[in-house]
Amino acid sequence: MKYYPLAKPRITARDKKYVLEVLNSGVLSGGEKTRIFEKKFAEFIGIKYACALASGTAGLHLALLAAGLGPGDEVITSPFSFVASANAVLYVGARPVFVDIEPASYALDPAQIEKRITARTKAILVVHIFGQSAEMKHIVSIARKYNLVVIEDACEAIGASYRGRKAGTFGQSAVFSFYPNKQITTGEGGMLVTNNRKVWEFCSSARNQGRTSDMRWLDHVRLGYNYRMDEMSSALGIAQITRLPQIIQEREKIAGWYEKYLRPYGGFIRVPQAAPHRTHSWFVYVIEIVKPGADRDRIIKFLQRLGVSAKAYLPSIHLLDFYHSGFHYRKGDFPVSERLSARTLALPFYNDLKEADVKEIGHRLLRVLRV
Ligand SMILES: *Cc1c(COP(=O)(O)O)cnc(C)c1O
Repeated sequence: MKYYPLAKPRITARDKKYVLEVLNSGVLSGGEKTRIFEKKFAEFIGIKYACALASGTAGLHLALLAAGLGPGDEVITSPFSFVASANAVLYVGARPVFVDIEPASYALDPAQIEKRITARTKAILVVHIFGQSAEMKHIVSIARKYNLVVIEDACEAIGASYRGRKAGTFGQSAVFSFYPNKQITTGEGGMLVTNNRKVWEFCSSARNQGRTSDMRWLDHVRLGYNYRMDEMSSALGIAQITRLPQIIQEREKIAGWYEKYLRPYGGFIRVPQAAPHRTHSWFVYVIEIVKPGADRDRIIKFLQRLGVSAKAYLPSIHLLDFYHSGFHYRKGDFPVSERLSARTLALPFYNDLKEADVKEIGHRLLRVLRV
């Protein structure tokens, strides 16, 4: 029986060649590959500056620091996200203030933001979840009205767009991730993008131990970190980003096959819906179990036995132990997020899947849903 993992990066012969060239060159960090990757990335997004980093999480940390956030500040963000987005708020000593999500896009619900704004609110950290943009028009206008900085966690949404504009171009800065399960990978890696020169200068310095922009070796002008991306990762990034439009097209096709083979199970599950004004870049394929009385975790266990890796996606952050106890959030605070956390699961999703694979996964899922 064929086994289907949840995710799997596709590494081509050309990808390997690019990385090997770096290894042969002897320049493993601080070289031209990183600068080329940044340039190509900025061009793809349609933004002025890009700053390559060791991870998406590092990018979120620097984006919040660049916005001047610190102790006493509140940051509005989504409870339905990978934990890294809320954790970054804690890194700078600010307080994450969660707001429930809209059922259509699983991202921040603009209608619920204003009632959580206080005199301490300084920023909205919006998360584009599963490859789809949040409702940016309303979120940006709320931010303008209250003079808040918008930062986009676009780690899952490279190539997604909203009203014809790419995710990552709406905020003061935006952050992408190249972890192996993302649409493109550099192993570990991330990218901060911005149109703001000051933010870019801060990021370039802070990722590099706080050195000045002319990079004099021991001139440290601020507290910095080692958040640099190395040259092997950058070379892999260059190779992958040139294929990105094709990668997204393939993922769209795979999502289309899922929709085709899962549609008939409409009473049991809900397949991903396109929210208005948005184009998906398909990070993961997440379905919602709507069959009355069904136990999502048992379904995952049975699928595993049938050779289909599936995973609960995602737990609500406010109910994780160290948020729950540290910030006095309670079950029931964010009903949409909690309902989805209890009912959603991610199915295998990667570029090597063929139509026959998707059909087979659909069959196995139906066997599980029928019991
Ligand atoms: C992947 C991801 C991150 C973190 O990226 P890393 O590169 O793994 O640090 C942050 N936020 C979201 C929503 C993600 O999916």
